[in-house]
Amino acid sequence: MDSKELLWSEIVSRISRCSKCDLHKYRTNPVPGEGSLYSKMLLIGEAPGKNEDEEGRPFVGAAGKLLTELLEVRGIKRSEVFITNVVKCRPPNNREPYDEEIRACSEYTVSIIKLVSPKILVTLGNHAGKFIFELGGVRWINVSRMRGRSYKMDIVGIKDVLVIPTYHPATALYNPNIRSVLESDFDMIKEYYFMEYGVGSIKRKTLLDFLEGGRH
Ligand code: SF4
Repeated sequence: MDSKELLWSEIVSRISRCSKCDLHKYRTNPVPGEGSLYSKMLLIGEAPGKNEDEEGRPFVGAAGKLLTELLEVRGIKRSEVFITNVVKCRPPNNREPYDEEIRACSEYTVSIIKLVSPKILVTLGNHAGKFIFELGGVRWINVSRMRGRSYKMDIVGIKDVLVIPTYHPATALYNPNIRSVLESDFDMIKEYYFMEYGVGSIKRKTLLDFLEGGRH
């Protein structure tokens, strides 16, 4: 286990014992996040839902399937990126998390951002957008006003993070208009993502295919 993995297991262990906000009373499993700790891209959503709470993994329900599809049709394997939420325990009846719960959980969110140290941070929905923009000292309005472009900011000591706000995939499940906006935002995310890896807008199936192809 290297130092990143060690730090990650410490964060997971702290979250699993956490009772800093009332959400701990409702969780079956905490949902710290998952993916590559070495990724240049971190995606941050709102809160675990029923499926996530049962599995202890983020984005595994219908919204998660859509998120995975949005990434993978663009050649980005879900396992290549890191995914978490602003709160790590499920709010009752899938209500939105309260500001004080997001604040209570921010210690872990900040630790995760520092650990992954991403070049690109994608915020999914209003709660994640507001939280990250406040960390970066940039005024947040709402997702519909802020989406469609990227913002460079220093976040928790990491310089020049490219923050890309977009809708939460759950909002697109039954709204074809939001779905097409999300598709267009993920086209932009893909461009920046592959640029970060210095491979431009490649047509190869996935970044891993590209890297593995280069070794042959
Ligand atoms: S949501 Fe975050 S702060 Fe609240 S109990 Fe869970 S881990 Fe702790």
